Amino acid sequence: MAARQILVVEDERPIRDMIAFGLRRAGFEVREAADARAARAALADRRPELLVVDWMLPDTSGLEFTRALKRERDTRDLPVIMLTARAEEADKVAGLEGGADDYLTKPFSLRELVARINAVLRRAEGGAEGESLTADGLEIDRAAHRVSARGRAIALGPTEYRLLEFFMTHPDRVYSREQLLDRVWGGNVYVEERTIDVHIRRLRKALEEHGCDHFVQTVRGTGYRFSTRVEGG
Ligand code: CA
Repeated sequence: MAARQILVVEDERPIRDMIAFGLRRAGFEVREAADARAARAALADRRPELLVVDWMLPDTSGLEFTRALKRERDTRDLPVIMLTARAEEADKVAGLEGGADDYLTKPFSLRELVARINAVLRRAEGGAEGESLTADGLEIDRAAHRVSARGRAIALGPTEYRLLEFFMTHPDRVYSREQLLDRVWGGNVYVEERTIDVHIRRLRKALEEHGCDHFVQTVRGTGYRFSTRVEGG
């Protein structure tokens, strides 16, 4: 399989270099643009699989650039991950409403960026976004990226969200840590298996106050399973 190409649009050279280095190491082909105009030229030259766009660019802002891409027929389907130095919720909402498929606040780890890229690419390829998932009162609104239990919102980190989304699309089956790494984090990412246990714990803790933590079941010696049925294991 040919390496998937990512276009990184960021004017700050050290950050762009770091991102390009990390993505190449993760097996992607990377092209770089320092501003929206250069990004346009790169897009005209060859269509990437996904764009990583910094909010703060010297010419057009990353948000405006993304909005413009999403308005145009040729580029509407191109997934965009937006980067920003600002952690405010309002910015996040503006970024996502502007058409970004995901959003990362600086500083972020390369591992996180690669995981997000893989998740966005999977969504783009799978086309499952938009449907909602439910299991015994627990609900994921995949279009809005919101999780709730009997109407009450549950705050989840992005990794816990992806884990839960994977579990709810694959219920009642046992997955080893290795399989979860491959399916949820993406095969290119190096994550230690015990990291999964940390995220499982966080997910359970978030579900606990809504009485849903028992859905995430440990299967001794094997891995984890999502089930609304109470089983031994
Ligand atoms: Ca910048």
